[in-house]
Amino acid sequence: MVLTIKTSKEKRVVMKCDLGGEYVNMLNLTDETRQKETHTRRTGCEFEIVFSSVKGVWAVCKISGNHNHELGGNLAGHAVKCCLSELEKVKVRAFSGQGLVPKDILCILRKEFANSHSTAKEIYNELIVVRAEELRGRGPIEALVELISCSDYFSKVRLVEGVVDYVFFMH
Ligand SMILES: [Zn+2]
Repeated sequence: MVLTIKTSKEKRVVMKCDLGGEYVNMLNLTDETRQKETHTRRTGCEFEIVFSSVKGVWAVCKISGNHNHELGGNLAGHAVKCCLSELEKVKVRAFSGQGLVPKDILCILRKEFANSHSTAKEIYNELIVVRAEELRGRGPIEALVELISCSDYFSKVRLVEGVVDYVFFMH
């Protein structure tokens, strides 16, 4: 399962399964052509985790909805496949706080990384993560990792240079 940020406010962050949301058939595709033409295969999954911040400390306050699809390690079809590369993340982080909007940063990334498939939305999400980290050193991801490290969950967390890079968990 892959989580993406749905909404982010100063004291409340909602993350949803990245298969959540209805598939928008903008290109009028059939079921056969759809897989090739889109990055994601949304299933309308309602799984969500709500994080809240009390006095600067983030905690998981609610987990709602159930996955309506198989869970597994296969990331085929998930939007995350096209997400920011490590190098792009470093760039985006460097631009954070400089008053650039995601669209501007995207232009810069596209010039620098010719085969980048990143989107302004992914840059926006990364900027939110950066902001969350800066605000209190303990972001929603860290709060999530803490929660799933407890006995009720099977979890696997991968760190890259001390930063959470990959989170997998099952309840
Ligand atoms: Zn799901």
